[in-house]
Amino acid sequence: MTSEHTKLHWSPGTEILWRYRRPDSAIESVRPMRVVRDDDRGLVAWLAPGTPVLRPALADGRELRSTPMAERFDFEHHGRATRLDTWHGQGVLKVAPTGAPWSVWLFWSESWKFRGWYVNLEDPHERVDHAVMTQDHVLDLVVEPDRTTQRKDEDELESAVASGRYSAAAARRFRGNAAAVEAVVRRWGSPFRDRWEDWRPDPGWPTPQLPADLVASATYR
Ligand code: MG
Repeated sequence: MTSEHTKLHWSPGTEILWRYRRPDSAIESVRPMRVVRDDDRGLVAWLAPGTPVLRPALADGRELRSTPMAERFDFEHHGRATRLDTWHGQGVLKVAPTGAPWSVWLFWSESWKFRGWYVNLEDPHERVDHAVMTQDHVLDLVVEPDRTTQRKDEDELESAVASGRYSAAAARRFRGNAAAVEAVVRRWGSPFRDRWEDWRPDPGWPTPQLPADLVASATYR
């Protein structure tokens, strides 16, 4: 019999999908990633440059950011679709502490100069088969290498509440989560102090791929 322990954690090197769903459960975004470390502390996974991804678009194929802020979450007006794309840039290391309603993303320049942490507020991560499932909370935090912290997309969260994507109570909870992360930064707790900025991917790793059914499911490509 397989022990619960082996079912709870993925081995380093395992390819997984990091999936974002909308409140109506539809898939909004899928990122194939490679497990770097997975244990009781949480999941650390790598999104490699050049990885095929599925990302959200408006029903007519335009970018989300092409709509005025006030209409961005008006799904009835603009609808939603998915677009097949390629992840550009140097790649992203995501750290999802166990049970936390956020993940911390590390960014580097092309010459591996560390650019800082981006804290994406999102549902605590559920695991389904070889996928992590979560839901974006719109509000984000940027933590600079000098530990300066700034909230991002407050206006977008207000728009999401006005359009009914999230309730005012949910938005208050998300702001509370942001305050909790700001407190972690102030005391320089994990994962910020864990030196993940010194981590580098194995150059021999093949680029993870999107499963064929997800490629076929894309509205636009
Ligand atoms: Mg976000």
